[in-house]
Amino acid sequence: MNEIRPIHYKIHLEPDLAKFQFTGKLELLLEVPAPASGVSLNILDLAIWKCELMAQGKGEACVFSVDPQKEEMRILFPRQVSGEVSLIIDYVGEINNRMSGFYRSRYVRDGKERYAAVTQFEESDARRAFPCFDHPRMKATFEAEMLIDGGLTAISNTAVVEEKPLEDGRKLVRFERTPKMSTYLVFFGAGEFEFIQDPGEVLIRVAAVPGKAVQGKYSLEFLRKALTFCEEYYGIKYPLSKLDLIAIADFAFGAMENWGAITFRENLVLHDPDKTSKAGEERMCVVIAHELAHQWFGNLVTPEDWKYLWLNESFATFFGYEVVDHYYPGWDLWEQFLQGQTEVALDRDALHETFAIEIPGGDHVVINASTAPIIYNKGGSVLRQVEGYVGKEAFREGLRLYLRKYQYRCASSRDLWEALEEVSEKPVSKMMSNWIEQPGFPMVTVEREDGNLLVTQERFTYMPGPSDQEWLIPISVRVFYGDGQSKGMTTLLDAKSAILDMGAGAVAYKLNDGQSGFYRVRYRDKDNLKELGKQVASKALPSADRWGIQDDLYAMVKRGEAKTEDYLDFLPHYSEEDASLPLSSIAANLHQAFILREGDSRQRIASVGRTLFERVLENIGYEPGRKDKHTTSILRDQILWQAALYGSTKAEEFCMTQFSLLLKDKKVHPDISKSVLQVGASLGNRETFEWFMGKIKSSESEHERMNMLVAIGCFNDWEVLKRVQRYVLEEVPDRNKFIPISVMSENLNAIPFLWDWYRSNLAALERFHPIHYERVIAALVPICGLGREEEVRGFFQEYMKKQEKLKDVVKLSLERLEIHSRMRRS
Ligand SMILES: [Zn+2]
Repeated sequence: MNEIRPIHYKIHLEPDLAKFQFTGKLELLLEVPAPASGVSLNILDLAIWKCELMAQGKGEACVFSVDPQKEEMRILFPRQVSGEVSLIIDYVGEINNRMSGFYRSRYVRDGKERYAAVTQFEESDARRAFPCFDHPRMKATFEAEMLIDGGLTAISNTAVVEEKPLEDGRKLVRFERTPKMSTYLVFFGAGEFEFIQDPGEVLIRVAAVPGKAVQGKYSLEFLRKALTFCEEYYGIKYPLSKLDLIAIADFAFGAMENWGAITFRENLVLHDPDKTSKAGEERMCVVIAHELAHQWFGNLVTPEDWKYLWLNESFATFFGYEVVDHYYPGWDLWEQFLQGQTEVALDRDALHETFAIEIPGGDHVVINASTAPIIYNKGGSVLRQVEGYVGKEAFREGLRLYLRKYQYRCASSRDLWEALEEVSEKPVSKMMSNWIEQPGFPMVTVEREDGNLLVTQERFTYMPGPSDQEWLIPISVRVFYGDGQSKGMTTLLDAKSAILDMGAGAVAYKLNDGQSGFYRVRYRDKDNLKELGKQVASKALPSADRWGIQDDLYAMVKRGEAKTEDYLDFLPHYSEEDASLPLSSIAANLHQAFILREGDSRQRIASVGRTLFERVLENIGYEPGRKDKHTTSILRDQILWQAALYGSTKAEEFCMTQFSLLLKDKKVHPDISKSVLQVGASLGNRETFEWFMGKIKSSESEHERMNMLVAIGCFNDWEVLKRVQRYVLEEVPDRNKFIPISVMSENLNAIPFLWDWYRSNLAALERFHPIHYERVIAALVPICGLGREEEVRGFFQEYMKKQEKLKDVVKLSLERLEIHSRMRRS
């Protein structure tokens, strides 16, 4: 292509943390393939005060203009130029408070408010820190230097090559040149950072505000393991000499994979044995492994365009689990993947308002509440399906080939398929394009005709609608025979329907054996479902399949094909269930049904939930035990709260005894503290809320603060809830404002008032980080809109005219509202 491209960026930055401003100087080396009279660069909120073309060591002024709408500056060269051309641009910018671009992160040290200056650039905010070609395809090398206060520390993607003290007390910190990389992965940080480190072949460190780096030990140890795994699996060494995990107090997302300088929310990288739960530890490891996988998938091989973002996120999601599973096989990570990733994706993608994993026309795809479950969760699930189809060995070899071939370059979906196809010699391209390029996913309906099974596919959606879509589906079936034996069968369904021969003597059959396929199953044959129920009760089926059967059934309830009561009638088969995966999924489904249904039906759900969870708690114990399985520890904290919510006096009394310890400043085991705080709040009053506010203020642990913010959404007293709402808008830091609001949208005592609250606080909510505001809409509308559907629709019809960017999340929220309304009425 005959386009002007960047070769090298030399960036000089001087952040001023007193004025929240920075000055910058950029030396940009360009490749101009044909004579050109100018060039356009992306900028946003930068004031350019000088732009020169360098020629024979001298600068010649360029005329330039700025188009804020297009986020561009248009530079006219003094004359036509070609070949390698160098520009020098001087500018100033703001260290903003928006958690994007170059921004300030606030923290408290010794009772005083302090700030660090850090960056967050994905997808297109590098332009807020330096003029650039802000597109992943435009790879170049970078050399950064920062002039900072002598007492501060600077961090960037690469190691420091020189630190030079200046006479005025400041110092100049210069960093190594980076490999060829995209702008969205550049990082700059300046502040009071402190490190712990592990100097191996690659120097790995954890950086945090003073006094906290020591809490990074857990992450640092896991990072070393994960790095070893990735280098070995991918067959390519990590290419930089250092890798930092940086804890940032104010951070909008979970983490960001900047090359060599990965940034995190504090709770995802800092560990406190008294405060961090098993669920928290697992999440830390999964996120670290996810971001590390990006150092290859994304940083080394980069998507040619944002529409191929799944090449980053699906793989990072997949390896987030794969790496942790390798080191902690007892954590049952792949089972948790089914609920945490696949179940979420199946639910999101069952809407008409959805799109393909490879987002069509997505030259500016944004990761948000609408896209993330598709690109991350569905993408990761489909990769698991592909791995199952081609086999682990071929999958790894295909990825190695792909990474080797495209390292330091860009790739598209096709490049990946061809690599997998070449190695596996299976029709991967056809299958992948099927799953990656079309929206939605199939439902496989199965009927029995004597010894045969007739399987038919159609698109699965909750609301009715025409579709003639088809998929290439790897079908697996387990058939149970009268003599107690079972047999597995597989086939690739490449048409609308097919017939499978089970042979004689079959008593039951289970589709999606092992649940590696991304589809729903509908059993036409009621007797078969009954038989499967028996296999569930006797645990002849593995836990993943026990999970799948009830979750598919619940999906039929949401689709309007089965009644909530049908689902409840099936649950007695799980009365002796002891595996976490089916139990935590049942907990999630019951909780949703509990909110959506009313009257007797709601009472019955509470009674079913109470009986089931009290029984489970009797078995596993209310108190955490030293010998608990990892997943048992996580499950306990989930169902303790729910048992109490459904009226279990035992659960309530247990939690309140624990809560009274907290009120006396005593310790509660981190693996039950979330439930204990929730129950404490739900039964609490104004004074309880004041206690919460005091604790949130004095807590040193983000993990603990987030648990408390969940809890304060659980108050039952409306007067207290009103105080909570005010507190959220006025005092909770921006990064966490969405937490109590999302929780309130599942609180029966808050729901009736939330819509009016939303309407009257629009201006404040619109100032949230966009991803958080979307989360608020996605949580609130589908539930608080019940009973006032017309009004809600009418409001958004007008509102979307002004807020175009919200249209995806509003549409999906309104579709969910429709599904919920039907479920409430049925
Ligand atoms: Zn990611």
